[in-house]
Amino acid sequence: MSSLQQQPQEPVLLLKEGTTETKKRDAQKNNITAAKMLAQILKSSLGPRGLDKMLVDPLGDVTITNDGATILKEIDAQHPAAKMMVEVTKSVDNEVGDGTTSVAVLAGSLLEKAEELINKNVHATVIVDGYRRAAEKAIKILREISTQIDPEDKEDLAKIARTTMASKMASGQSETLANIVVDGILKIVEEYESQENSIGRRSDSTKKSNYRVDLDNIKVERKAGASIHDSKLIEGIVLDKEVVHGGMPKRIENARIALVNSPLEVEKPEFDAKLNISNPSQMQRFLDEENKILGSMVEKFSSAGANVVLCQKGIDDMAQHYLAKAGVLAVRRIKESDMSKLAKATGATMITNIDEITSNDLGDAQLVEERRVETDKWVFVEGCRNPKALSILLRGGSQRVVDEAERSVHDALMTVKDVIEYPYVVPGGGAPEAIVSQQIREWSNSLEGRAQLAAEQFADSIETIPLVLAENAGMDPIDTQVQLRTKITNSNKPKYGIDVINKKIADMASRFVYEPLAVKEHIVNGATEVASMILRIDDVIASSKSQAPTGPPGGGGGMGGYGGAM
Ligand code: ADP
Ligand code: MG
Repeated sequence: MSSLQQQPQEPVLLLKEGTTETKKRDAQKNNITAAKMLAQILKSSLGPRGLDKMLVDPLGDVTITNDGATILKEIDAQHPAAKMMVEVTKSVDNEVGDGTTSVAVLAGSLLEKAEELINKNVHATVIVDGYRRAAEKAIKILREISTQIDPEDKEDLAKIARTTMASKMASGQSETLANIVVDGILKIVEEYESQENSIGRRSDSTKKSNYRVDLDNIKVERKAGASIHDSKLIEGIVLDKEVVHGGMPKRIENARIALVNSPLEVEKPEFDAKLNISNPSQMQRFLDEENKILGSMVEKFSSAGANVVLCQKGIDDMAQHYLAKAGVLAVRRIKESDMSKLAKATGATMITNIDEITSNDLGDAQLVEERRVETDKWVFVEGCRNPKALSILLRGGSQRVVDEAERSVHDALMTVKDVIEYPYVVPGGGAPEAIVSQQIREWSNSLEGRAQLAAEQFADSIETIPLVLAENAGMDPIDTQVQLRTKITNSNKPKYGIDVINKKIADMASRFVYEPLAVKEHIVNGATEVASMILRIDDVIASSKSQAPTGPPGGGGGMGGYGGAM
């Protein structure tokens, strides 16, 4: 007994030297603060009146955008909790293509409200549970207030596209692009056999439509130097490359197209080879031989019947010459992604071994033509065998304008796809969030104990969406909150939200501002999920050399600082 006491106490070393551990409250506080900071950055860019962010990357390249997903990607947050937020917004962007700013703002708000409860000694598990139940209820309410649309109604779809783009561009411009997007999608939409007979819709039961949209069929090309209104839909594929040789035809009707993914040149020996030439005639013979190989290579295309050769790799000068002589239009160094689009559009098979080419490998298009686009020459492949191959040619005054236009078009393509496949819409302008907030506050009274507190906080959190929209429009948030609550309580029918253009509370359904139900569901689920994940962490163990694990939590950068690049 006594000998034991004499021994000095050995410290128990569980973790590697230099590892830091942040526990309980501190860990939670750290994570919540980081996530809140991220939300704070994004807040001011929510909605049509939101401002843009100028992002400068380490090389000095500047991006100006209002797109939540792009902002989050570019700021490269280092804090593990902030990284979790970025992951969730990314997944929402991949799934539904819009609502990224809203997810971050809502998640930040949920965490802020959770912090208040934690300070009042409510256990994180209770909050997480309350949030989960409130989120389920929120989805139910959203479904109830949603309206079913006809997935082929052009006007309804255009409203969706316009609302999505409203936050990134002027209204006249979004009008033009919305029409292009909707026209394009309606050309590629596919209808499936109905699986089940639709039985009248119950108020909260929603189901997918029989339509599917494959956005791989639409290729977006951009070119600065003209107005956005000059953007157009092209039925076919546009290649930002020119015809490789001046002597080739610039226009081929009834094109028979060969797609080649190996270079059209004489193969070089794999190891150093030395060639001893002692007189000029030998040199000539050598060159002649090379030319003969190239000539017979080109001959293969002609005998298979190809009059257009589209090559992913390079084309040798001599091969160009022979192709030109044979009257073939050829383009080289085409992007791999474009090659696969071309294969799908024209029905051509990719050719790797030129010796084995047959006429069965060739694809068809009514017209292949080189046209001038500003100072460049581009090749247009139109009237393809698969009519579902489309391109959107985006124009804009400057590179930054077309870049932002492309992000808007991406969002619009995705949201239109969302409503075609899941044909329900809710009004925008924070109207559904305001209704959900109010109904959850009422519903929370039916809950017991502390879960009720959590549900109330959820109701407050979701109300931040209309309030932030109002704030960004220059309206007073407190006044707006009071007025919005009164209006909603007094009449349950119209869907009051923030008309940010006219800076007042209005029935958003009458403002033609609509959003896909799919996006709203993803916002609620995504934000609740990431907030819960962050709340459940009560211990952060970070090893000193923090290169190894990259995934959250406890991954990357040291726990002390919040988001390095902010
Ligand atoms: P997110 O990345 O979340 O999509 P946005 O910056 O695109 O963020 O803003 C979307 C919000 O703007 C939505 O809540 C939407 O309802 C709202 N909104 C879009 N157009 C209007 C409008 N004309 N009036 C009011 N709110 C609008
Ligand atoms: Mg948006």
